[in-house]
Amino acid sequence: MLSNNTSNPPALACKLPRKAARFALSLAVMFSGLVLSHSAQSADTSLKSDISSYYDSHLSDLFLWFHQHPELGFLEQETAARLAAELRGLGIEVTEGVGSTGLVGMIENGPGPLVLVRADMDGLPILEDSGLSYASRNRQINFSGEDVPVMHACGHDMHMTTLVGTAKMLMDNRDAWSGTVMLVGQPAEEIINGAKAMLEDGLYQRFGVPDYAIGLHVSSGAPSGMVTVREGIVQSSSDSVDIKVRGIGGHGAYPHQTIDPIYVSSQLVIALQGIISRQINPLTPAVITVGSFQGGSKHNIISNEVNLQLTVRADSEETRNEVLTRIRDTAANIGRLNGLPDDLLPVVRMGFESTPTNINDSAAVAKVLPAWQEQFGYDPLLTSQRPGMGAEDFAYFTQTEHKVPGVFFSVGGTPPDLMREVASGRASAPQHHSAFFRIDPNSVKAGVEAMYTAAVELLNNP
Ligand SMILES: [Zn+2]
Ligand SMILES: [Zn+2]
Repeated sequence: MLSNNTSNPPALACKLPRKAARFALSLAVMFSGLVLSHSAQSADTSLKSDISSYYDSHLSDLFLWFHQHPELGFLEQETAARLAAELRGLGIEVTEGVGSTGLVGMIENGPGPLVLVRADMDGLPILEDSGLSYASRNRQINFSGEDVPVMHACGHDMHMTTLVGTAKMLMDNRDAWSGTVMLVGQPAEEIINGAKAMLEDGLYQRFGVPDYAIGLHVSSGAPSGMVTVREGIVQSSSDSVDIKVRGIGGHGAYPHQTIDPIYVSSQLVIALQGIISRQINPLTPAVITVGSFQGGSKHNIISNEVNLQLTVRADSEETRNEVLTRIRDTAANIGRLNGLPDDLLPVVRMGFESTPTNINDSAAVAKVLPAWQEQFGYDPLLTSQRPGMGAEDFAYFTQTEHKVPGVFFSVGGTPPDLMREVASGRASAPQHHSAFFRIDPNSVKAGVEAMYTAAVELLNNP
């Protein structure tokens, strides 16, 4: 999950603001409902116990291995090799090196639809400070040649473990379904390039265009094991944009003989927010965040250049294209306003990190929901507003050239002890992309249960 928020709240004991407390209260209600309904009924108890015993005998250790061996996007060599070995160990044919470090496992089981099941594999350049006994100490040389710490701070370790568990259940219960399953280990979700790389490497030409695609994300915002899903838009589009603002440098005491790129960039940052507040329909969600503003070297020097890094979010292609076009125009116009000649106007770069909006197919969700309701004893369908404009490159599998109906769902991952603190308003759960992030490994069980159930429903009732 690519989110806007990368802050690290040292917040295990902090007081929550009123708004957060209200959210915590609603979580408490959800949490208590979850516990009650679990004890009230359960559908396929043999599936639950099969998953539970496979978790105890294998998946819990596998989760720890993934957690302690995080690797950065497109550098997931060890991770991909382990995931491939796990799937091969189940008797599944695996192709490696699809879209760099991506892999594909195919389970062919008679006539029927083709269902893609995806897990992303990459970690983040963060020094883990979770306090866990199994915390990562991995480091890697990134693509800039820097030696950086690496951590599974988004839960992709849980996703891969869930994929293996789902594969095991599909293999063990081949008489319960018919069709073909394409298991996808996707690289580089955090830089929203991995799904694109797999598709550009001919994923659908080589392995077939799926009839459905299923993906999940673990969530630190919900209690461990709580499965939720939405109809329609699940996550926003995301585009990274670089703007190089050039100026004419000089002495800080003689500004009139220069064109100061820090001043020009400051105007640009303000003007960019005007796109959202004055130019886009206020009923249409969109975000522009300037996440990096770099320029200058000393108090009395007017520099030649400032570099801005933006993230842009939208909920429709129309809004996305409009915002991106206006960013380009605004940068040029602010440059002209400050007297920059045409050959020194700001240089805008986009398209290098981008993903469309992640949209669930309502009909596919409707096929899966009754089975989940029966299996979990509660209704996983969320009808509340989304909490923000996070993004997911799972959208590439469903929203690009081939429109593939998708079901992307969430599994709560905050451990029960911490969730009780959160629910009572005494703490907040460490967010994704935080050094304190910790996911309850047990959430894998609900992940497998939901993933397997969804796959079987879509395979048997296409
Ligand atoms: Zn993620
Ligand atoms: Zn993430």
